[in-house]
Amino acid sequence: MIWNKTKECMSREDMRQLQSERLRKLVERVYHSTPFYRQKMQEMDITPDDIKSIDDIVKLPFTTKQDLRDNYPYGLFAVPMSQIVRLHASSGTTGSPTVVGYTRRDLSVWSESTARCLSAYGGTSDDIFSVAYGYGLFTGGLGLHYGVEYLGATVIPMSSGNTAKQIQLMHDFGPTALACTPSYALYLAEAMAKTGIPREEFKLRIGIFGAEPWTENMRKEIEAKMGVDAYNIYGLSEVMGPGVSHECECKDGSHIIEDHFYPEIISPDTFEQLPYGEQGELVFTTLTKEGLPLLRYRTKDLCTITDEPCKCGRTNVRMSRIVGRSDDMLIIRGVNVFPSQIESVILELEEFEPHYLLIVDRINNLDTLEVHVEVRDGYYSDEISKMLELKKKLGHRLQSVLGISGDIKLVEPYSIKRSEGKAQRVIDKRTLN
Ligand code: ADP
Ligand code: ZN
Repeated sequence: MIWNKTKECMSREDMRQLQSERLRKLVERVYHSTPFYRQKMQEMDITPDDIKSIDDIVKLPFTTKQDLRDNYPYGLFAVPMSQIVRLHASSGTTGSPTVVGYTRRDLSVWSESTARCLSAYGGTSDDIFSVAYGYGLFTGGLGLHYGVEYLGATVIPMSSGNTAKQIQLMHDFGPTALACTPSYALYLAEAMAKTGIPREEFKLRIGIFGAEPWTENMRKEIEAKMGVDAYNIYGLSEVMGPGVSHECECKDGSHIIEDHFYPEIISPDTFEQLPYGEQGELVFTTLTKEGLPLLRYRTKDLCTITDEPCKCGRTNVRMSRIVGRSDDMLIIRGVNVFPSQIESVILELEEFEPHYLLIVDRINNLDTLEVHVEVRDGYYSDEISKMLELKKKLGHRLQSVLGISGDIKLVEPYSIKRSEGKAQRVIDKRTLN
């Protein structure tokens, strides 16, 4: 169902009009309330009067995670603390955490945005959602939580961890939807299978997965193992949290809630705005946010955007899956490697489980890449020749996709540590020194 037809199915022209109006107001607001932005704009010799339409956005300065850190904790907040009703902090996948603040109105926009997502996945007030994202400073848990309530459905605030209990309550309470990271979903699916409880005794039908990159193959894997329809949800705490974009029944890109979050794709090298269709870094301007409004926030996430009409009837632009983060790109022996490329290769081959760990090091001034990967039950063997064969197969695929070879370590099923939140799949020992 389309939750908010007016905003989700607006003509492109009306959307641009709305975005232009909102951008003008936003710039006016931050110019007068946030010294950081006023100073940046003054340095660029622009005033709010220079911003007349959404196209003028290219005149505005970028904001980065570093700016948030430099103004830690509240320097970029645009309202007095008396108007901030909630704080969250980013999980700090890279570096120290950043604090974000929400006004009452921000929270209501967030809930409505998340409700749009849940509705697009086919969720209704009849559904029961088990939210297995972490509750706390991380935006995942509470973000989804209030979206479910806004939708009028039932929420089970499970939070992450305690897998045995998750499964017991999923069995007893009968949630029809599960929200968690895709890596935890896989872990849960395995653990559910191990309990021996027949799958029909679970009522799950919708899976809502995000907060970390995942692939089409991983979707197939989760859907097969868990018996759900798996959908992508994307977001980041600086912009709001989960619910910045979402898939629809077409599962062909994620619609961006662009009446609130204006997306651009820029070249990470020249910072020039790129046309739709080209891959680059995703940048968001929070058109309506009050607590921590951001102008052209550089997400470091790499993807493409399309404004081609979607069969679902929504007109909101769609973003592709995140192919990687410009800052999690590994440079191994001079070659750019994204962990997601390695993941796709592993998932294409039926002999392997989607559990892997990449260990990058520098030995005698030479970069090394170890790929630890679990061999699927039934393919794991004591026969050395069989294992060597498998190793060769994966090695060749990796070499042809990445252009470099890695040292492959085949490990037994279930031997790689499972994660309850965002999976850690890369250990770069070069940066640890
Ligand atoms: P961080 O992980 O940077 O500390 P957050 O917890 O807010 O901060 O996570 C936001 C980041 O998580 C995004 O910028 C993106 O890299 C990643 N992410 C979130 N959802 C998805 C998704 N559906 N697919 C891929 N990556 C995602
Ligand atoms: Zn659609």
